[in-house]
Amino acid sequence: MRRFGYPYFGKRYLYDIKNKTLHDLLNEKEECHIDLIHEDDIDMYSSLNEAALLMDHPFYYECPFCMKKAESKEG
Ligand SMILES: [Zn+2]
Repeated sequence: MRRFGYPYFGKRYLYDIKNKTLHDLLNEKEECHIDLIHEDDIDMYSSLNEAALLMDHPFYYECPFCMKKAESKEG
C-alpha cells in the first residue's frame, strides 16, 4: 500500500538501498517488510522508467514478492 508521509511521499516504488532491492508498494506483500526498512535506506520513485533510478542505482534486485511479473498468458 502507498504511504503518504515521510519518507514515502505517496510514490509507488521503494528502493531499499541497503539490500539493493526494489519494491512495488501497490503490490506490497507481508514478506516485503516495508515497515522494517530504515528511512535512511529508502529512495522513492514514481515510475520504473524514471532515469534517476538507473543513475542512482545501476544494479538492483526486484523483490520476489511484489515485483512478480504478471505473465499468465499460458492456459
Ligand atoms: Zn517487495
